[in-house]
Amino acid sequence: MRYDQLLVRYGELTLKSGNRHTFVNQLKGNVKHALIPLTGYQVHANRDRMYIHLDEHIDVEEVIRRVSKVFGIHSVSPVMRVDKELETIKAAAVLVAKDVDQEGRTFKVDVKRYDKNYPMETFELQQVIGGAILKDIEHLTVNVRQPDYKVTVEIRQDGAYLYSRIEKGAGGLPVGTGGKTLLMLSGGIDSPVAGIEVMKRGVTIEAIHFHSPPFTSEEAKQKVIDLTRIMAETAGEIKLHLVPFTEIQKTIHKVVPENMTMTSTRRMMLKIADRVAGNINAQAIVNGENLGQVASQTLGSMHAINAVTNMPILRPLLTLDKDEIIIKAKDIGTFETSIKPFEDCCTIFTPKNPKTNPKLEKMEKFESRFDFEPLLNAAIDHIEVLTITKERPEENFSDFL
Ligand code: ATP
Ligand code: MG
Repeated sequence: MRYDQLLVRYGELTLKSGNRHTFVNQLKGNVKHALIPLTGYQVHANRDRMYIHLDEHIDVEEVIRRVSKVFGIHSVSPVMRVDKELETIKAAAVLVAKDVDQEGRTFKVDVKRYDKNYPMETFELQQVIGGAILKDIEHLTVNVRQPDYKVTVEIRQDGAYLYSRIEKGAGGLPVGTGGKTLLMLSGGIDSPVAGIEVMKRGVTIEAIHFHSPPFTSEEAKQKVIDLTRIMAETAGEIKLHLVPFTEIQKTIHKVVPENMTMTSTRRMMLKIADRVAGNINAQAIVNGENLGQVASQTLGSMHAINAVTNMPILRPLLTLDKDEIIIKAKDIGTFETSIKPFEDCCTIFTPKNPKTNPKLEKMEKFESRFDFEPLLNAAIDHIEVLTITKERPEENFSDFL
């Protein structure tokens, strides 16, 4: 006996009754994407639940692992389908109950008798099946009111369906149902986490990265591509806009006093991000800023930097502690890549004593000494756009074909 399907419960979609069809369809597509490159399953989604039928050869635990990471999914249960013969149901119920950690726990059997012609009544079935479980598993007791877990048995026309295990899903909303944002992606720890946080609320992202060759290396660029690919596991595909930033950065260092270069750099980045966001119809910009973490992220700095755009700026990590962000980065799998020691353009040009409370009027005064417009336009004209998809095994062989 084995699990032959997964029951997938939706999260907050239940709140969105008007758009439900769109949400469910998007979620179904995202689940299929998460299962690439596995084969041997069919996904059936209805208004309330999704069922994934699993062929015999497929690795059920791998399917559970992948599906439970998809945003918009509340929980996942592996389901066993057996004949409706009583002894078979009892044996299956014992197996299903054993799949949950039972140490000192209480349970109850919950029978749903959809096949009204079935020869036994609901209550009687609950008694008999519960008795079989108690007989087989030590230390387990029945608690009908507040059980630690339930063994659910659905008696349907075509068989009995049993499940007890409930794996928690990623929660959130299906990516693709909440509009589009532009993520400012550095090679650091924070910004990929910020990207995943907004994706969790259903939002699609494109990413923008500023690099300054030859001061920044090819490895630093590759690191950002690798981070985007990890994020694309969740998203399907992500467009990455690589902006050549060398000239702008060099110019900032000529015209702005050393201790204000960091603020000015951020302002120029944000000016470009603002225009790119407009070009791709993004409705907001996302960054990994965190209140007070470094000089460029004090309230004063944010005020001076933010002044260059009218776009909403989303800062999902604003109030987290660094160790909380690191836990998240490890969880989503970006941490190891983020800590690779290839420096980005900000690290290299960082002034020794950046101003922690730069004044907007002063920033504007110094920047007005030079016409940055042609440089900004040139940078935008030379953006390289890469479409990054999640890693597929066949890509590894493309060199040999
Ligand atoms: P991160 O770990 O995300 O790099 P950080 O703590 O190093 O963050 P900063 O370097 O001050 O913080 O950057 C703040 C935010 O500015 C980043 O989270 C990112 O959104 C954006 N940013 C910084 N450098 C770049 C870059 N080279 N390209 C695109 N965005 C950047
Ligand atoms: Mg950084």
